[in-house]
Amino acid sequence: MSEIPYSYEAPVSQALFDRAAVVTPGGVNSPVRAFRAVGGTPRFMVSGTGPYLTDADGREYVDLVCSWGPMILGHAHPEVIAAVQDAVVRGTSFGTPGEGEVALAEEIVARIEPVEQVRLVSSGTEATMSAIRLARGFTQRSKVIKFAGCYHGHVDSLLAAAGSGVATFALPDTPGVTGAQAGDTIVLPYNDLEAVQEAFHRHPGEIACVITEASPGNMGVVPPAPGFNQGLKDACQRNGALFISDEVMTGFRTSRSGWYGIDGVRPDLMTFGKVMGGGFPAAAFGGRADVMAHLAPAGPVYQAGTLSGNPVATAAGLAQLRLLDDAAYETVDSVSAQIQGLVTEALTREGVAHQLQTASNMFSVFFTNRPVRNYEDAKAQESFRFTAFFHSLLANGVYLPPSSFESWFVSTAHDERAIQKIADALPAAARAAAEATA
Ligand code: PLP
Repeated sequence: MSEIPYSYEAPVSQALFDRAAVVTPGGVNSPVRAFRAVGGTPRFMVSGTGPYLTDADGREYVDLVCSWGPMILGHAHPEVIAAVQDAVVRGTSFGTPGEGEVALAEEIVARIEPVEQVRLVSSGTEATMSAIRLARGFTQRSKVIKFAGCYHGHVDSLLAAAGSGVATFALPDTPGVTGAQAGDTIVLPYNDLEAVQEAFHRHPGEIACVITEASPGNMGVVPPAPGFNQGLKDACQRNGALFISDEVMTGFRTSRSGWYGIDGVRPDLMTFGKVMGGGFPAAAFGGRADVMAHLAPAGPVYQAGTLSGNPVATAAGLAQLRLLDDAAYETVDSVSAQIQGLVTEALTREGVAHQLQTASNMFSVFFTNRPVRNYEDAKAQESFRFTAFFHSLLANGVYLPPSSFESWFVSTAHDERAIQKIADALPAAARAAAEATA
């Protein structure tokens, strides 16, 4: 990797990172925050307003991470904050049912037609873990098909060939996951229906479910080829397995009803998180009522959570979803298209080989001249160019995900000033990418 000249330009963040490293492994509470793939000092943020984040050194950044997806209305949206304030003064957790949970579940069911019933949890990881357990309980089968480069949270059995941080750090199957836990996971190349059919053929009556990101964003943005999700659904139906669409990232972001609203393929179960929590820990899984009826206390498959349906989190999520009308999605799509155009223009002008790939308003850049259809293609990119591009943008006040294996996210709050700031920073970043050496 070429030398990173920006590492010590954030003395207060660096001091905080040094303190953090003493008491927290690697200094962070989630690996991709640590900047290990790109080098340098992770910025410790102290506040966020609209499209901007401010770090501990007092520098402002246009945020293209949006907390890895949730902040689709920008930071500290006044109506979301008001809903949180209203909820928080009435108490932070009751351990009983409450109306907010019902209202949030109703909003999800109303938006996403295949979701007849939904159970609230606290993280996307919990949602996918629970959906898989339910699928196994329902079908009385043990094997799960997942795709290389798809990330479904840090569920033991789903960490095989996972995207996001596992891809960023090129981790082998992680220590701590036993052979038994991984042994029931069949990992296949993404966008390869033949491999799916072959797996069903090899394991008749054994496969409980196929889980896929509705449109993957955790190996960078790699949308499903036309017919891929429908092919998965059909293969599941033919073989008595459930089709689980993981919409933790795409849900309520790529459209009012997530990726389902775009491709219309009807899953048996779906998982949600990020946007539906309004920046708080709230997530969900749901789907066919006859399948959900197998969950405790209605049925025998156990699943629970002390803070599930937390009143503050549900208030934030509900406020955010209610603000996400058609006009809001038009704004996010338009902001995304403008930034995509600027990035393409800057990289093209400098002659940098790249693919800007999109899935509705999610997008990312691969530094390669070949379209990226799966994880193998994603790994073949020239990541050293991303490192140079990332640091140049960071130095000029634009905050990208610190990895080339992640989607970029925008919000309704990215206004002309924010977009201009990105436009101003891009020429130098494109030049840095062009000049980078491995
Ligand atoms: N599923 C997908 C598609 C995700 O992108 C993520 C997180 O990025 C998860 C599941 C896990 O969610 P969480 O980080 O809330 O556990």
